[in-house]
Amino acid sequence: MTSGRRPSWWQRLRHWREDRQLRQLKVSPGQWQEALGDWAVYQRYPPAQQRRIRDLALRLLLRKHLVAVNGAELDDRLRLRIAGMAVVPVLELGLHWYDRWQTLILYDGPFVAEHSWEDEFGIVHQEVSERSGEAWERGPVVLSLEDVWHSGQGDGYNVVIHELAHTLDMRDASANGAPPLHPDMDPQAWQRDMQAAWDDLAERTEKSLPLPVDDYALEDPAEFFAVLSETFFERPAPLREAWPAVYGHLTAFYRQDPEGQSDPRDK
Ligand SMILES: [Zn+2]
Repeated sequence: MTSGRRPSWWQRLRHWREDRQLRQLKVSPGQWQEALGDWAVYQRYPPAQQRRIRDLALRLLLRKHLVAVNGAELDDRLRLRIAGMAVVPVLELGLHWYDRWQTLILYDGPFVAEHSWEDEFGIVHQEVSERSGEAWERGPVVLSLEDVWHSGQGDGYNVVIHELAHTLDMRDASANGAPPLHPDMDPQAWQRDMQAAWDDLAERTEKSLPLPVDDYALEDPAEFFAVLSETFFERPAPLREAWPAVYGHLTAFYRQDPEGQSDPRDK
């Protein structure tokens, strides 16, 4: 349950090696501005943390493979933008929380995913669906570039954070809607408050009331956590207002308070 709490000697060695490589990489302030300047989430961070986001984003690009397929085109601006978005959730956790995946595959537009699964009677079902992103246990993370461009527009949607939240969830073996919690967190309280928020979202959806998060969250507990995570960073205010306890758990897990950033007195 404590995975990823302290970097090991190997992680420190890798960090040191990367420092040398990073010094060779020259990304100008103008290039960063072009890549992340219009992203409100990035703008909300104080300058010192923006520097850490940029540093972590380059480390991510050194460690992971970004692969464009199916006619997708990946230029430097897009690489930096995706990497910048990707590292925000682990800014206070450390990049080693992403150690279980190595490749980010980018499609041009939504992609069709074919899955087969076996039910409890041993019957294999074939399922074909159009998706904006996908994350597999120990496998690659897949994103649609079209959805990457729709991410970070202020409406709470961010496919990069969403899919990477799935990878955090899967660190403790299964996508069950709970990542490995830190030792100072209470798993029962997490479970109880997530369930209450889930029930509330279901009720609001039924009554056509305003929703603090997209109702896609009700697909299953894993989607619930992924949608909560993207909303937590992208549009924290309505989330904190609707479900303060859930907001508190996410603050404890990510070790960040996106809503408090805009007004530190409000913490
Ligand atoms: Zn998802």
